[in-house]
Amino acid sequence: MSKTRLLRGNIYNRYLPGIVPEPSEPNKKWWFIFKTGKLLVRNNGLAAEIPFFEEPSEIGVSTKFNLYLGTLDGYGCYAAVTDAEVSPQEGLEFREIRPLFGVLNDDILLLSFKAKQLAEWSRISQFCGRCGAHTGPKPDEMAKICPQCGLVAYPRISPAVITAIIKDDSILLAHNYKFVNNRYSLIAGFVEPGETLEDTVRREIMEEVGIKVQNIRYFASQPWPFPDSLMVGFTAEYESGDITVDGVEIRDAAWFKSGSLPELPDGMSIARKIIEWFKDNY
Ligand SMILES: [Zn+2]
Repeated sequence: MSKTRLLRGNIYNRYLPGIVPEPSEPNKKWWFIFKTGKLLVRNNGLAAEIPFFEEPSEIGVSTKFNLYLGTLDGYGCYAAVTDAEVSPQEGLEFREIRPLFGVLNDDILLLSFKAKQLAEWSRISQFCGRCGAHTGPKPDEMAKICPQCGLVAYPRISPAVITAIIKDDSILLAHNYKFVNNRYSLIAGFVEPGETLEDTVRREIMEEVGIKVQNIRYFASQPWPFPDSLMVGFTAEYESGDITVDGVEIRDAAWFKSGSLPELPDGMSIARKIIEWFKDNY
């Protein structure tokens, strides 16, 4: 059986963050251009690359909300949005990000996550949330500042927890109504104000499948720009209760042994990374 490909890589292998371009930077830049959430890529056989040129007009694309991100391999990189009905040059194409897993280099895919989230934030933070004036970039950090009232707005990150619940040699997996096909995954949910991450783990599991857990342990985390989550992965042990699905979000949930797992999420998600850990250890 072939090993599932998991998303590896590190955003900082090739990328250095920055707020303002250095005058010494070369003219050519990496452009992460999004159109309704899809990323412009240059198709290169079975692989894809981020377009590399001086200005978007060179390839017939007009961009808005251009945001400098820092450098990638020593060249400036920008996130931008286009909504014009453009047909980019031959070989360039707007593609959904998720299917680019395994097509774009993993480090670059992770940088695309950042670019996607910031491009969208740049678009929706044009006006001050307090007084409605036009905002401008804050020169010393990744933020927008209001020239009228001074309100500073940072990019939004919405933390969410995702947990593998283990009972003896089984894992609890659930089918959410939103999942495609008959896919099963871990219990997940957004952190609410006032909660610790462990509180969220306990509350979400109780709400969605009606059981109590103990020994909650941090596993790993992953940015998830659909649209702006940070997924924080945990493992927990079953404590008590019988599975009772909420019927609102969760259609079905059950205990599975590693030899008889249902259809699972793809290797780009932290969910799959945690389930692979379970397969290796139980
Ligand atoms: Zn204001």
